[in-house]
Amino acid sequence: MKIIDGTAIAKEMLDELKLQIKETNLSPKLAVILVGDDPASKIYLKSKEAACSHVGIKYEKYLLPNSASQAELLELIKELNESDVNAILLQVPLPKGIDEGTSLEAIDPLKDADGFHPINLGRLLIGDESIAPATPSAVIEILKRINVEISGKHSVIVGRSNIVGKPLAAMLLNRDATVTVCHSKTRNMAKITREADILAVAVGKPHFITPEMVKEGAVVIDVGINRVGDRTVGDVDFEKVKEKASAITPVPGGVGPMTVACLMKHVFLLALAQRG
Ligand code: NAP
Repeated sequence: MKIIDGTAIAKEMLDELKLQIKETNLSPKLAVILVGDDPASKIYLKSKEAACSHVGIKYEKYLLPNSASQAELLELIKELNESDVNAILLQVPLPKGIDEGTSLEAIDPLKDADGFHPINLGRLLIGDESIAPATPSAVIEILKRINVEISGKHSVIVGRSNIVGKPLAAMLLNRDATVTVCHSKTRNMAKITREADILAVAVGKPHFITPEMVKEGAVVIDVGINRVGDRTVGDVDFEKVKEKASAITPVPGGVGPMTVACLMKHVFLLALAQRG
């Protein structure tokens, strides 16, 4: 069994990106908007800022108070759309009273760092992955870098969120996997997950996937991030499932750092596309 070192692969990816940015003589600029003071969002933003500084992406932070209105946020997004920033990231969750869909749709699709704009998600569905969400991209990149063949494999995804499960299903389909997506209304889920050659889990429940739900030799990718006491754990019962999997991502140190690395790559690609 192989424990996939997401931190090491992410470092490799960021080092490659740093070189690419230098070679293309670009100076990409990312604007990050945080509304309110969600503590988890602040932690995520710190790691994004550190990655930007590592690869040579300019990082601009725009903080709006918890009390900010929808109109204020839309005004800021409009200004950034018209400015020289190459990529805009709106950190979610947003405070009550601010609609996520309306806000994400206000971002210029060509500056959409997270790839959550409906135009970009629609393009993904028809096979154009030029602006794809970072977390599903991280899962694909991990599989690629550990040489897991996707074509023809049965991939089971647990979770159907718009930011992880659904786009990941499209990306695996784009690579000729046979894809099954499970969710809270799925019946006999263990029977389905046991058929997975590749099992990707994004549920948000600690230790949700137990060894009985995993086929011997499966590749298991755990997207979950859950706080249990003072520990961070995934959605997979790592210690037990690792005995059955041929490869498995730990939490922390799996998909998380790869998500940040993929986000950096996307900012670079947006800047490159804008240069023409
Ligand atoms: P989400 O929007 O809450 O979606 C959770 C999904 O899990 C839903 O589709 C839900 O089904 C399904 N689900 C919930 N309970 C279930 C059950 N008992 N059986 C089967 N399916 C069930 O979550 P998300 O945003 O995709 O995030 C999922 C996890 O990934 C979280 O822990 C989050 O923190 C983590 N995450 C990590 C990264 C990263 O960079 N590593 C990025 C994003 C998210 P229904 O649709 O039927 O409700």
